[in-house]
Amino acid sequence: MNNYQAPAGLLENRTILITGAGDGIGAEAAKTYAAHGATCILLGRTVKKLETVYDAIVAAGSPEPAIVPLDIRGATKKNYIDMAETIADQFGKLDGILHNASVLGHLSAFADIEPDEWLNGMQVNVNGAAFMTQALLPQLLKSDSASVIFTSSGVGRQGRAFWGTYAVSKFATEGMMQVLAAEYAKRNVRFNCINPGATRTAMRASAFPAEDPQTLKTPADIMPLYLYLMGKDSEAVNGQSLDCQPK
Ligand code: NDP
Repeated sequence: MNNYQAPAGLLENRTILITGAGDGIGAEAAKTYAAHGATCILLGRTVKKLETVYDAIVAAGSPEPAIVPLDIRGATKKNYIDMAETIADQFGKLDGILHNASVLGHLSAFADIEPDEWLNGMQVNVNGAAFMTQALLPQLLKSDSASVIFTSSGVGRQGRAFWGTYAVSKFATEGMMQVLAAEYAKRNVRFNCINPGATRTAMRASAFPAEDPQTLKTPADIMPLYLYLMGKDSEAVNGQSLDCQPK
C-alpha cells in the first residue's frame, strides 16, 4: 500500500486527532490528512509548532484545524476525559486517531537506564496512547468507520542493544494495538500499527547523528500508507502492523 493513490476527498467530513502534530511525521500527516478533506485536531506540547502547522493547513485552503496543547508526559486521565468532552461538543464524533508522538530518550546500556528515563519513555510512548484511546473510544464508536493508528518501529518487533526503553515501549505499542484490535474486531473501529522506517526527522537525526539525512525518505514520501490506513479503503484491515519501507 506504499503506492496507494488516495482520492482527493478521501477524508472529507472526517475528524482526525494527530498526536505530535507539530513536527516530523506528525506534522506532515496532519497537513496530508487536511489536504484530503479531514478536520484535524493537532495535539502536541509546543504551541508554536502547532500554530505553524495550523497556518499551513489554513493557507492551503483545507478545513480549519483545532489545536490541543498537551504535554503527554504530565497528562492525566482527567485531561483525556476533558478532551473527549470537547471533541464530543465540537465535532459530535471522532473518525480517527494517529498516535504519533513519541520520545526516543537516551540510548544506553540497559543496566544504565535511570528509572526517570524509563518512566518518561513509557509515559509518553505507551501510557499516553493507552489512556487517550480509553477516553476517546466512546467518540470513535459514534463514527460509522473509525481508524486508530499506532506508531511502531523496527525495534518494536526485534529488540536492539542500547535501545532499551524506546524498544520496549514500541513492543508494548504493538501489543496494545493487538489487544484493541481483538476486542473491537466486530465493531466499527479498527486498530493497526505503522512502522515508518528510517525517515528524515529530528528524532532520526538524534539517533543517528553521523547519517546523511539526504539519504532518507522524507515524511511526505511515506504518506501513502498513512492515508490508506486512515481512509475507508482499509476498512477490512484490523490488527496489522504495516511498514512504510518494507525491506
Ligand atoms: P519527531 O521527534 O520529529 O516528532 C515527534 C513529535 O512528538 C514532536 O512533534 C514532539 O513534540 C511530539 N512529542 C514528543 N513528546 C511529546 C509529549 N510529551 N507530549 C506531546 N507531544 C510530544 O519524531 P518523528 O516524526 O521522527 O517520529 C514520529 C513517530 O514515528 C514516533 O512515534 C517515532 O517513534 C516513530 N518512528 C520514527 C522513525 C524515524 O526514522 N523518524 C522510525 C521509526 C519510528 P515537540 O516537537 O514539541 O517536541
